[in-house]
Formats: sequence, C-alpha cells, structure tokens
Amino acid sequence: MLYNYGSINIDHVYRVPHLVRPGETLASHAHSVGLGGKGANQSLALARAGGQVTHWGNLNVRDRWARDLLADAGVKVGHVNEIDGPSGHAIIQVDDQAENSILLFPGANHIYGRNDLNKLIADTASGDWLLLQNECSGLADAIELAHEAGLKIAFNPAPMSDAVRELPLQYCDLLFVNKGEAAWLAGVAEDVSAQQLLDALDVQLPGCQLVLTLGGEGAWYQHDGQRHFQPALPVKAVDTTAAGDTFIGYYLAAMQEEADIPACLALAATAAALGVQRSGAADSIPFRAEVDDALN
Ligand code: ATP
Repeated sequence: MLYNYGSINIDHVYRVPHLVRPGETLASHAHSVGLGGKGANQSLALARAGGQVTHWGNLNVRDRWARDLLADAGVKVGHVNEIDGPSGHAIIQVDDQAENSILLFPGANHIYGRNDLNKLIADTASGDWLLLQNECSGLADAIELAHEAGLKIAFNPAPMSDAVRELPLQYCDLLFVNKGEAAWLAGVAEDVSAQQLLDALDVQLPGCQLVLTLGGEGAWYQHDGQRHFQPALPVKAVDTTAAGDTFIGYYLAAMQEEADIPACLALAATAAALGVQRSGAADSIPFRAEVDDALN
C-alpha cells in the first residue's frame, strides 16, 4: 500500500491585469476555485493512473467537496478528516502575461504533530510506501517514524524551504526533485549539469533512488550505478502547474505495477506532457486511458 501524507489546498485563482503592487487595490476580472496542494495533486494523479493510494490529511468541513473529488477519482480518503479550522488555501494571481504570484496559508495542513502521525503509521505494514511533500507539518517525525516502522519513503521536497536540509533525508528511498530543488539540496549552483547535480546528491544520499525532472528538457533517474534519461515529449505547453505532481503520481503508479525504471519514466513523462497542454492544477491531470493512447 502507498500512503500519502499530503497537503490539500483550496486554490482561489484571480485573473488580474497585473500582479497587485504594494498598497494597491485592484479589481480581478475572473475568479475560480479548485482543488490544489501538492499532496492532493499527487494522490489524484496516482489514482487517475490506476494506482492505489490512501491519503492522510485534513480540511475544513465546508470543503468536503475537495475530499469527494479525491474519493471519486479512487483515492482512499478514510483518513482525510474534517476539522473546524480553515483548510490550507492559496490565493493565486495570474496576470495577462501568465505571470503568477501565490500566497499560501497552510491551515489544516499544519495541524498534525508526532502523536497524530504515530497513530497513522501504526496502521501501516513494513514495506508499505509513505509519500511526502514539503507542505505539511511534522515531516521530520513522519520520516523518522516511517523509517522505524519499516516503511519506504518517497519524498518530493517542494516547495523547497530551509527546513528541508534539517530533515533525516538519509532515510528516504526515493527522491523527486526539479533542478532548483536538487541544486539547493546539494548546495551547488543551478547552472551545473544534470549529471553534476545527480552526482552531488548521490554522495549526500547514497541509498536513495534519485529522479531529477528538468521541465521541457526531460528527466533523469540515478541509483546504484544505474542511470536512465527520459526526454520530455515535444508539446506546446500552456500551463506547467502540477507537471511535477502529475509526473510523480504516474511514476509511482507505474512502480506499483512493477514496471521497470524506463517504463516508469516514460509513463510519467507522457502524462506530464498531456497535463502541460491544459490549464489548472488538479484539472490538468490526465486519465490513464489518454496516457496509454498517447504512449502507444
Ligand atoms: P511543478 O512545480 O510545476 O509541478 P516541477 O518543477 O516539479 O513542476 P518539472 O521539472 O517542471 O517539474 O516537470 C516535470 C516533468 O513534466 C518533466 O520532467 C517533463 O516530463 C514534464 N514537462 C514539464 N514541462 C514540460 C514541457 N514544457 N513539455 C513537455 N513536458 C514537460
């Protein structure tokens, strides 16, 4: 089984002529509300890919629709709790040039501590996977407790923050990073080659399988002397929001099917390439049948 202790955000997207300046009051000409949060996106991608995923998280009782959306997609939501406090949410401005700015409020994504995580992990079995991103509280506890319980840990340290360097990353089995995250973690400049980034991370985390995504330039896998490159599909991207989340969800679903690494990478890259041709976060995540069609 794969468990995802992940953020659930309510995304409020405002279309604006330009991003609000300090002290300015600006009228927005369109507003939409949708499901977001890296955790929810990755669970949704996993489920749409046909994978099995149990989501752990919290949201406000009024946002039950977001849990229903995950459940309808096939995500197991028995441990997505409704609370009285506010859900995690994002205020996203998108201007006419497609530039954006995002204000994030963690809300319900930041209420779990060690005891809560301990209870959840007590219900898992050795050999299960725990997927984590960097939008929930108690990550160090989650990693430590999962390691003690014999779980395998997949981590996507996004969005990157100083606190990530303090986490017991040596217990991670699979790391998904984009170029900026890899450089930041490895403590090297972003303009070094992908190979240098992977080698630097390999020295730091020798036991960990590394998946480095490079946007429109593709993705690398490296572990234990094995190295694979997956080119990105040549498509016209309109919105790359959740490209990484789609990639991760599909990669993990392929892993559950015991596909080999090149096949995991190919499925993930095909799904992400379909996603970047559509707008939105959760809305842009493709279904498995479309991905299989595009792959064959
Ligand atoms: P995000 O934070 O927006 O979810 P990310 O920075 O984590 O994304 P990226 O490295 O940008 O992740 O993209 C993940 C994968 O998505 C890439 O490895 C690639 O397969 C696919 N992808 C991203 N951008 C493009 C693109 N322009 N064309 C084709 N595929 C793309």
